[in-house]
Amino acid sequence: MSSVAREWREIPGRYNLQGTKCGNCGKIYFPKRDFCPKCRRQSMGKMVPYEVCRRGKVFSFSIIHDAPDCNNGIKPYAVALVQTDDGAMISAQLVDVDLESIEIGMPVRAVLRKLDADGASGVIHYGFKFVPQ
Ligand SMILES: [Zn+2]
Repeated sequence: MSSVAREWREIPGRYNLQGTKCGNCGKIYFPKRDFCPKCRRQSMGKMVPYEVCRRGKVFSFSIIHDAPDCNNGIKPYAVALVQTDDGAMISAQLVDVDLESIEIGMPVRAVLRKLDADGASGVIHYGFKFVPQ
């Protein structure tokens, strides 16, 4: 399982929520952006790397039910728009939570989770999801 080991070794570099901060207005973006949609030209060359806070709260959410043609047997799941403590907006799946208990303003934190595994190559992909704090 050398590919799995290699994948794990890559994690520390990706583990931070690496976003971008606009040097003009101070707004934080995740994922990274090359320019600030608000400042546009004024933000060019002023976007700086920024490690986004992993804690935040649920800004809005929706419960996704099974698609008709796929995901058979997969339970409904929640996708939330999370506002981090430093003001970035991140859209991600909400896990390890009772769907009925999710509410606007619920404190959550980002965790790194397995997203899926490519059966052919055995490569496992990781990404951020949110869990209750
Ligand atoms: Zn800006």
